[in-house]
Amino acid sequence: MDAAEFRRRGKEMVDYVADYLENIEKRQVYPDVEPGYLRSLIPEEAPEEAESYEDVFKDIERVIMPGVTHWHSPYFYAYFPTANSFPAMLADMLCGAIGCIGFSWGTASEATLIALLAARSKIVKLIQADHPDRSETHIISKLVAYSSDQAHSSVERAGLIGGLRMKKIPTDNKFSVRGDALQKVLEEDRATGLIPFFFCATLGTTPSCAFDCVTELGPICNAEKIWMHIDAAYAGSAFICPEFRPLLNGIEFADSFNFNPHKWLLVNFDCSAMWVKNRSDIIGAFKMEPLYLKHDHQESGNHSHWQIPLGRRFRSLKIWFVFRMYGLKGLQAYIRKHVGLAKEFESLVRADQRFEISADVVLGLVCFRLKGSNELNETLLKRINNARKIHLVPCQLAGKFVLRFAVCARTTESRHVQEAWCHISHLASELLQELPH
Ligand code: PLP
Repeated sequence: MDAAEFRRRGKEMVDYVADYLENIEKRQVYPDVEPGYLRSLIPEEAPEEAESYEDVFKDIERVIMPGVTHWHSPYFYAYFPTANSFPAMLADMLCGAIGCIGFSWGTASEATLIALLAARSKIVKLIQADHPDRSETHIISKLVAYSSDQAHSSVERAGLIGGLRMKKIPTDNKFSVRGDALQKVLEEDRATGLIPFFFCATLGTTPSCAFDCVTELGPICNAEKIWMHIDAAYAGSAFICPEFRPLLNGIEFADSFNFNPHKWLLVNFDCSAMWVKNRSDIIGAFKMEPLYLKHDHQESGNHSHWQIPLGRRFRSLKIWFVFRMYGLKGLQAYIRKHVGLAKEFESLVRADQRFEISADVVLGLVCFRLKGSNELNETLLKRINNARKIHLVPCQLAGKFVLRFAVCARTTESRHVQEAWCHISHLASELLQELPH
């Protein structure tokens, strides 16, 4: 493909993408195909000879789209949002064209791992400063890190990757870790010779968007020399609105903080932003300076020392485009609209005596269930997802099977939420009528 053809195909692709997004609600949100469906649609081997662009393009609808879950459909209410906006797509295109290798962050999971490893390195140095005779291996074997029992699986996985002991702290009836719960475990662990060194607090947990009590946890972590990392992957975007900022109280105690503009700030995947209080803690843990990477501006923020991969895509372009083209007011309006839609859904659920709300609705997530057994709710969710009109995922809260309704798509409007509720309510009526009376 030469530049002339790129011009033509690029315009066609932009039209295709605009049509796709404009008409996305006409597509079934969740595919019917089974894993492996592609096998019969594509050849077993890569083609020997080059094919035409037309051939590739026409296979998008034939081969690719039948297997796609349409995350940007206004009927997609699963997981958390994954952001999508036209300015970010344009910037992504430019990013591909510039194609440089920058140095910055990957995802929220990577940020947690980085914080954990930096904290490990810091505590080892700290202990060895007082006890030079203690080996690194011995100290590491005694280390223990903590998170909420509601933390995202990536936190536990960071422990696995880092080869570090991780423990989950039980949460209260609001699914939030409180100071006394952490304090109790710290005392028990110190008594057995373990060395607590890291706590990952979550602001906006994945199951229910709960907030760990960092105003209580922060002072404990600071006093005990425990690195407090805050994972605000989803909820972090909401803090651009002053009315949600009280949820950040206690942030001053954090050693590191991460949130995903790619979830809820209209910046397409992937784009995760991490802040560290003391950058020398991170640089001190990971700095590598081979001769071929040396340059004259070494000390002016070389982020390659801050992460696992050496390089990264030019992600900040997307943020720049989106911030400038929406403006703070536009972004705040977007967050508020989603929170408003979640509140609308919450009131529909509350008005129906057959259902209950399972956790406080703070941002764009509503956790709800039919009053009744876990089996009943599992069946309801199965029917909702099998009908393919909307897509939801469940979670487990205090032993209960709960349905999560997360306002995800940029295009979701009140009418979609009302339609989704009518659909859920209708399926619930059918299900309840089938039960023996
Ligand atoms: N942390 C929380 C609280 C999340 O909800 C998620 C994803 O939903 C993650 C971490 C993982 O994010 P990423 O895909 O950026 O690693």
